[in-house]
Amino acid sequence: MNEIERSKKILKILNQIYPKTSIPLKHKNLFTLLISVALSAQTTDVNVNKVTKKIYPKYNKPEHFIKLGRKKIEKLIRSTGFFKKKAKSVYLLSKQLVEKHRGKVPNNFEDLEQLHGVGHKTASVVMSQGFGMPAFPVDTHIHRLAQRWGLTSGKNVTQTEKDLKRLFPKKSWNKLHLQIIYYGRKFCTAKSCYGLTCKICSTCYPNRKKPLKTKKA
Ligand code: SF4
Repeated sequence: MNEIERSKKILKILNQIYPKTSIPLKHKNLFTLLISVALSAQTTDVNVNKVTKKIYPKYNKPEHFIKLGRKKIEKLIRSTGFFKKKAKSVYLLSKQLVEKHRGKVPNNFEDLEQLHGVGHKTASVVMSQGFGMPAFPVDTHIHRLAQRWGLTSGKNVTQTEKDLKRLFPKKSWNKLHLQIIYYGRKFCTAKSCYGLTCKICSTCYPNRKKPLKTKKA
């Protein structure tokens, strides 16, 4: 089976298992989506949701975070880890939004990636989940699964994003990146490969005799 055949089978299986995909990071508006994505680095979505549940009812606009200032933001987001760096980003990007974008989250990659602490992956999530524009955010988990499923031999997320965009139809991207994340969390974790039992690999690699040797991606 070549990579195109595999990609078609994978898409079909994921659509069967996850016909609907909800956005894992809870948010009130585009701005809080952006903040939640920024806070989700190096921690889980569950943890971010736990923290933001207490923040967003009161603070949900860039102006609120500017008024709070860095030290108070640090206190609020402490349990998401790397809180000093994250608080600096939240504060500075809030200022940028107010000063350059009238407090609105821009709807293009160029402006999003100019915001403090916002890289291509964060911008892709906002474009995809916030604006519904075709994007394929690739994090280390999607990178790992794409490698294990033989959809990329890329050494980095940039190459993996290119390969996935080439293999899957544009209209599937927004849902697919979430479907892959859900599948990875449940069936294809960083630590282990169940080898012969997962639906995707038993379909795409029917002749496999042993579990994959996993290296943390
Ligand atoms: S067998 Fe399962 S755990 Fe292993 S690579 Fe395939 S989907 Fe992932």
